[in-house]
Amino acid sequence: MILHDPTPNCTDESAGAALLHYALGTLSHEKMQFEEHLIECAGCQHELDKHRTTLAAMSSNRPELLDNLRKRSDRVRVARKQMYVLSTAALAVAACVIALLVWPKKQDNVVVVPTAGDSSLVDKDTVSVESELTNDSLMVPPHTPPSIAHLAVFAPLAYSPINVRAAETDARSIFREGMERYQVGQFAEALIELKRAHEADTTDTEIGLFTGVTAGITGKIDLARSVLAQALRQNPRPARVAQLKWYLAQVAIARDDRKAAMTLLDDLAAGESAYRTDAKDMASKLARE
Ligand SMILES: [Zn+2]
Repeated sequence: MILHDPTPNCTDESAGAALLHYALGTLSHEKMQFEEHLIECAGCQHELDKHRTTLAAMSSNRPELLDNLRKRSDRVRVARKQMYVLSTAALAVAACVIALLVWPKKQDNVVVVPTAGDSSLVDKDTVSVESELTNDSLMVPPHTPPSIAHLAVFAPLAYSPINVRAAETDARSIFREGMERYQVGQFAEALIELKRAHEADTTDTEIGLFTGVTAGITGKIDLARSVLAQALRQNPRPARVAQLKWYLAQVAIARDDRKAAMTLLDDLAAGESAYRTDAKDMASKLARE
């Protein structure tokens, strides 16, 4: 039988609170102070190891997510000053990571949730990091499921252009330019054209699909979600529906929305599309997380 060492606790929670920012490299003037603490705190050494693994995985798979974490790190530090109770630094850091991962791309719709309010009544999209930390961080149960956001896979979808040049619409001509960029892997540039093509014709589900895929690849998850969902509402043919649902599932995973992801994946796994096996595999991957 293998006995695991018990996870050591932080010896100074006020110092340990800086851990995530240290791991992200966003700690400036408090850095030396935290390092002095780190030398003697087994709890923080242990936590730091865990976060470094997560952050390293994130930076290789989702560099844009890590950048967002870094940018938002400063805001969280401000929020943290408002906290007055912390059970353990580990708990706070876990809550902090969760809060950062569910933090929506839109940063302007910050809503302050009443402290005594029921946070389950509030749309996850509009909960601020401040409220997540002041309310939820104190109530995170030990069995809180880990974030699934790192499992999202936005692989470029193969594109075969149709060589029908007659009666090409404006939207189609912009789309073709965008897809030339897409095919050589210039996704950020492609997205500019694809967004224009989509705006020119929101009913073209192929344009919607590739705009959504490219938005997902470039980390614009909210845009991916709205464009893909809009294309799905156009009642496209079954093969297109499956493609849209697959990428919407990746969007749900990236947003850490397990329920929506599982619904889409179960649906694909039960169907006859090309995504059937991939959907089954991904659903069982999510179930294991
Ligand atoms: Zn510590």
